[in-house]
Amino acid sequence: MSPDRLRFAPSPTGYLHVGGARTALFNWLYARHYGGQFLLRIEDTDKARSTEESTRAIFDGFRWLGLDWDEEVVHQGANLARHQADVRRLLDANRAYRCFCTSEELDEQRAAAKARGEAFKYDRRCDRLLTADVERRIASGMPFVVRFRMPEGTTSWNDLVHGTISFANEDIGEGDFIILRSDSTPIYNLAVVSDDIAMRITVVMRGDDHVSNTPKQILLYEALGAGVPKFAHLPMIHGPDGKKLSKRHGATAVGDYEHMGILPDAMLNFLALLGWSPGGDIEVMTLPQMVELFSTDGLSKKAAIFDMTKLEWMNGQHLSMTSAADLATRLIPLILSAGLATDEDLVARRDWLYQLIELLKVRARTLDDIVRQAAPYFIETVEYDAEAVAKGWKDREATQTILRASRDTLASAPRWTTDALEPELRRLAEQIGIGAGKIFQPLRIALTGVAASPGIFDVLVLLGRERSLARIDAALRRLAH
Ligand code: GLU
Repeated sequence: MSPDRLRFAPSPTGYLHVGGARTALFNWLYARHYGGQFLLRIEDTDKARSTEESTRAIFDGFRWLGLDWDEEVVHQGANLARHQADVRRLLDANRAYRCFCTSEELDEQRAAAKARGEAFKYDRRCDRLLTADVERRIASGMPFVVRFRMPEGTTSWNDLVHGTISFANEDIGEGDFIILRSDSTPIYNLAVVSDDIAMRITVVMRGDDHVSNTPKQILLYEALGAGVPKFAHLPMIHGPDGKKLSKRHGATAVGDYEHMGILPDAMLNFLALLGWSPGGDIEVMTLPQMVELFSTDGLSKKAAIFDMTKLEWMNGQHLSMTSAADLATRLIPLILSAGLATDEDLVARRDWLYQLIELLKVRARTLDDIVRQAAPYFIETVEYDAEAVAKGWKDREATQTILRASRDTLASAPRWTTDALEPELRRLAEQIGIGAGKIFQPLRIALTGVAASPGIFDVLVLLGRERSLARIDAALRRLAH
């Protein structure tokens, strides 16, 4: 059996939506797991709505996520001649016919059906025109569309997600559906089938919203004498309120998550769980693990919930799993643009930077979080968080005593390492007769300005002796008035 061929076929009419990225990922995972090809087709036939910028956004999204594709990108708009030739084949095989009804006439037919309380279905009046009449109309330049003649019977397929789906042909759409517009451009269903045949696609995996198109497409495959691919219709993505995911729920563009400090691996992991489960309790996975575990058996038909809190949690997991060096490549531009350091500074202090990242990555949910938490280690003068001060330095007198004593102890420490500093400060706590935390917390605020940070000894080492002592002095000056 030859390997499967899959494709992702976005219409470039906006940004890369998270739902689109999820569909792309599942197609990609299928191809990489089962061994096959994953192709990319830009469905740019709608000239009025398709833009270069949107096409670029799709490529950018793929690049950021680290998804690749096989073979050349296919641009649907370039295949117009073949689409038209396929329509001609259907006309020649008498599986389609020209329809000269004007939109006014069709509106009348629709209104009449409504008045009768029936669903509109094209009454095939143009299919009954005599050949000579059809030829005369064509010769006179009368505009026409081409309709596919719906056969009798039932159209079914074994969906990889939903199992058997069947449609009675008489219930599909409005009867003989249009495949070519009066301006000779193809309708979506025809263009997709024509391209999928040409690209030798064997598995069509896409959103649930296309289920109603599938019987039409199957009929077109059969009429064009092509093998019908397998279909997998993925569940819709909903917001936490159970409604279809939209901008109301927050960002829906993949690019927005990049700017929120989400790691691509975390995004992929999160997207993978929107409609698929590897089974067991496994949730956090690297991309290679997802490739290994992917299976169509794990696909779900239930709508998936896009939960931002879960994405942030997932991102936290991936931040912890990623090496400081890898995180640094993403963090450095953010640190530079926040004005916290210069490029040369970061190059000169590379080991220090990695150490800082190592300590912060386990406490952060986003890259931005890390940058925010990193600020106290870069800036010259600490900014004190009002709430931290109100709570941690409540008793000013006592705080001054503790900070002064800590300063003396630290200043005389034999070495400036966590191993050397820890016993010194713990001994001091014992001497004063207070819990160590009563020293660490006021000290933490003096050193970082905030109430939460890595362990106090790590903070001291990151800041270095001189800076740490200067910060305690500055805190004491502030507390004195
Ligand atoms: N361009 C269609 C869409 O974006 C593709 C549907 C399909 O995969 O067939 O929804």
